[in-house]
Amino acid sequence: MIESIEGTRAIARCAVCEQAREVDLAGLVVRLLDKDTALVALPACSCGAVEYVIRADGREHPLPGSRSHLHQLLVDHLHAELVERKQLAPGSDDAAKLCVPLAKEDRERWFSKGLSLPDRVEPRT
Ligand SMILES: [Zn+2]
Repeated sequence: MIESIEGTRAIARCAVCEQAREVDLAGLVVRLLDKDTALVALPACSCGAVEYVIRADGREHPLPGSRSHLHQLLVDHLHAELVERKQLAPGSDDAAKLCVPLAKEDRERWFSKGLSLPDRVEPRT
């Protein structure tokens, strides 16, 4: 999971071993699976786990403001950022249509202190 994005770096926390690690955005690409689905493969964790983050389909999140909603917004932002930098997998040029930047009001409402998840950890549901 992505915990924060600042400039060209993101902090990712491994879903398997729960270690946080720094990820350089320069090494990532957006891959378009079909016209409605794009994903980014994060670099493997030192434990060997590989995580993919998937661009939301644009439907409204059922729990606005929840950790999972904010995580989705960070993931969406990551995709838009990589598209902006033209970091696309071969054949994924159309990703620009799907991976639009976060709405200004979402960014202001949920990330007024920067693109990061709140510290408080909610129990997994
Ligand atoms: Zn790990």
